[in-house]
Amino acid sequence: MSKPKLATVWLDGCSGCHMSFLDLDERLIEIGERADLVYSPLVDTKDYPDGVDVCLVEGAVASEEDLAKIRLIRQRTRVLVSFGDCAVTANVPGMRNPIGVRPLLERAYLENATLNQQLPSEVVPRLLEKAMPVHMVVDVDVFLPGCPPSADLIYAAVDDLLAGRRPDVSHRARFGL
Ligand code: SF4
Repeated sequence: MSKPKLATVWLDGCSGCHMSFLDLDERLIEIGERADLVYSPLVDTKDYPDGVDVCLVEGAVASEEDLAKIRLIRQRTRVLVSFGDCAVTANVPGMRNPIGVRPLLERAYLENATLNQQLPSEVVPRLLEKAMPVHMVVDVDVFLPGCPPSADLIYAAVDDLLAGRRPDVSHRARFGL
């Protein structure tokens, strides 16, 4: 029997949730034996594949690139997990929402720049008007809160999902959160 396909995705987040995932330490080996990690910042695959069973999505949806990516991921994923507070609530990326895109870019690229003051016109993905939690854009199956979620909480959720169970994160206190 083939192993479930697992993916992790990094949208607009600080990568702290992925760092917490790495804190699974030796449990990563166990997860690697139970699932195929088919797409992640931690592996070299460039294209999100079809037929992913479980995907952990870190970060808010904040740019046109994020938007296109999360829509594709939703189409190709059976169980989509909002992974960490930026995905669940927009959290830190959402702090720029009251400012507006234009003043934000001017502050970053003109006022605070000492060299080459200019607004980006290529390479940098175009920002959406607001940074949004993932569930405002696509359906989410499981919410995994925390900034970042602890390694124990991540393990409990992934363990459940790979076993075909729906994770119950209502007992977060168990993990000291
Ligand atoms: Fe970073 Fe916290 Fe956002 Fe995770 S939830 S990406 S740790 S700011």
